[in-house]
Amino acid sequence: MRSTASVAVCEPRADLKLVGEAPGFHEDKQGYPFVGQAGKLLDKLLAGIGLERGDVYIANTVKCRPPGNRDPQPDEKQACEPYLFRQIELIRPKVIATLGNHATKQLSGKETGITRVHGQPQRLNVGALAVLLYPLYHPAAALYTPAMFKVLEEDFARLPELLGAPVPEPAPVVPLLAPPPAPEPTVQLGLF
Ligand code: URA
Repeated sequence: MRSTASVAVCEPRADLKLVGEAPGFHEDKQGYPFVGQAGKLLDKLLAGIGLERGDVYIANTVKCRPPGNRDPQPDEKQACEPYLFRQIELIRPKVIATLGNHATKQLSGKETGITRVHGQPQRLNVGALAVLLYPLYHPAAALYTPAMFKVLEEDFARLPELLGAPVPEPAPVVPLLAPPPAPEPTVQLGLF
């Protein structure tokens, strides 16, 4: 649903949730995510696929600004994790696009870096909710390396297809002990 509200407003029923790293100076001052330079690039990338802020929900892995814009520390990420997961449960997005290494590693639960996994959707269960996790480079990467904008545009271009794709079935729960093998069917030799 398209909202005409101000640039910072997010859609609480959004199919697409974007998760960044942590608030920076401007986000801290204004209380909204991605309102600085990286946010302007994010708006441009969204516009490229026909979306605006009012269509998506934007959040951060860490909810407070790390002093001096340093990387969020493991205990900070851990402290904020329940809020992130609760947000996901409430919004129930179809696709969660993680922006950069921190969000990608936290939500995938894997240490594989963004360079290897960007643009590759993965199935993710958050409680009983099945979503697609779609890792993307952080838009700030394109502030430092302009060529990165093209990579981001290419990865963003797949989002409409992923949003239209059916929500994945929850991954089967793998039992700790393998069940006993099913008995062999009794073959009636005369039928073959
Ligand atoms: N970078 C982020 O990861 N989040 C913001 O909100 C702003 C910049």
